[in-house]
Amino acid sequence: MRLSRYFLPVLKENPAEAQIVSHRYMLRAGMIKQQAAGIYSWLPLGYRALRRIEEIVHQEQIRAGHIPLLMPTLQPADLWRESGRYDDYGQEMLRIRDRQDREMLYGPTNEEMITDIFRSHVTSYKDLPLTLYHIQWKFRDEMRPRFGVMRGREFLMKDGYNFDVDKEAALHAYNRHMVSYLRTYERMGLTAIPMRAASGPIGGDNTHEFLVLAQTGESEVFYDDRVTALKLGNRDIDYDDREQVAKVCAEFTTLYARTDETHDEAAFAQVPEAHRKVGRGIEVGQIFYFSTKYSEPMGAYVTNAAGERVPVHMGSHGIGVSRLLGAIIEASHDDRGIIWPEGVTPFPVGIVNLKQGDTVADAACAGLEKALLARGLEPLYDDRDERAGAKFATMDLIGLPWRITVGPRGLEKGVVELTSRRTGESEEMSPEAAVDRIAQIFADHA
Ligand code: ATP
Ligand code: MG
Repeated sequence: MRLSRYFLPVLKENPAEAQIVSHRYMLRAGMIKQQAAGIYSWLPLGYRALRRIEEIVHQEQIRAGHIPLLMPTLQPADLWRESGRYDDYGQEMLRIRDRQDREMLYGPTNEEMITDIFRSHVTSYKDLPLTLYHIQWKFRDEMRPRFGVMRGREFLMKDGYNFDVDKEAALHAYNRHMVSYLRTYERMGLTAIPMRAASGPIGGDNTHEFLVLAQTGESEVFYDDRVTALKLGNRDIDYDDREQVAKVCAEFTTLYARTDETHDEAAFAQVPEAHRKVGRGIEVGQIFYFSTKYSEPMGAYVTNAAGERVPVHMGSHGIGVSRLLGAIIEASHDDRGIIWPEGVTPFPVGIVNLKQGDTVADAACAGLEKALLARGLEPLYDDRDERAGAKFATMDLIGLPWRITVGPRGLEKGVVELTSRRTGESEEMSPEAAVDRIAQIFADHA
């Protein structure tokens, strides 16, 4: 993509309405535009990053054996009357009437609808286990939408629902989600810690929230800081192996890590003092096993191996896809702008031409662009007739992790400069070597 033809409306000034750094940088980098409180347009750069995040979420869900589908944003109220939530949900639900005066709502979540799909088509345990998910816009009429996409009213969520014949199978589905989420966040360059969440009216302790540590997070968190060093890495996970998956979950949930909702002072006091930390976190996901809460009232039953009709055991599992952009920026930035982790960057690399209009420099940049595209890597080429300083400032603000700087002086020696946004370190090398290096780096993140 050539910047001269792109749509990247960067702002020079800090927008007054933005209270936290991710919101500020998303506005300044021309990624989003607010259309109403908590409702945003995704401008081209923001949309590219959002798509990258969605892609990773899809890949890891499919790897875990979960099946994508797509449910609508608008739902009939009657479905929610069956579960009793139409009246319970309160003011956060956006209620709408169509021209026939039928009551509708903009979905804040999809338990009822997925249960309806399930009961219409599945009658036997032989069709289980089954986990269906989608990535779809949600609407919650939040009391205080704020911090940009972090707490929107319209926001993009991945929500998945498992259907299992008994509690053990459903707990395996729960564990599978935990592991797939850990991998998802790691690929985005994030450390998201599973923390025991409030059990709510259902009881049991089968719910975890995933929190990214950040000063600007809305939740207070209490943890043993050794939990932040745990990594899933590239280990081979067999998602059908109940024991292996449960062991990974145990590894990540044994050290103390809780939000203020479930915090237990006595248990926390057992953590060695040097490791006992209190901080703040951003909730980027939550998993939940809720047994037969929806299947019983809504009639989602199957026959089990003994020939009995039993309500299915369910759970629901959500990732805040649009919130993740904010969380990633909160976790990865400096005073000049965003620093995208390789896994989610909207463009892998920027090309800065120091002397636009110089035949040699222009040709070298076009050559780099072509060579990168041939490797499946689309660069953002700043081909505008601007001063070098302005070009660098834009690249730093939008935060592409790598920059190739091309100028007549270097080209006389046959070199360009490859710079890491994160460390600021630069290295001179031939254009071919720079392309190879970038291709290698991104192959490691595929
Ligand atoms: P919160 O406590 O932050 O209001 P929640 O617990 O109500 O969130 P869930 O129902 O668990 O949200 O939804 C799954 C995920 O969707 C959350 O973990 C969060 O990442 C994301 N999410 C929830 N509400 C919003 C929102 N208003 N804006 C952006 N993302 C959200
Ligand atoms: Mg939650």
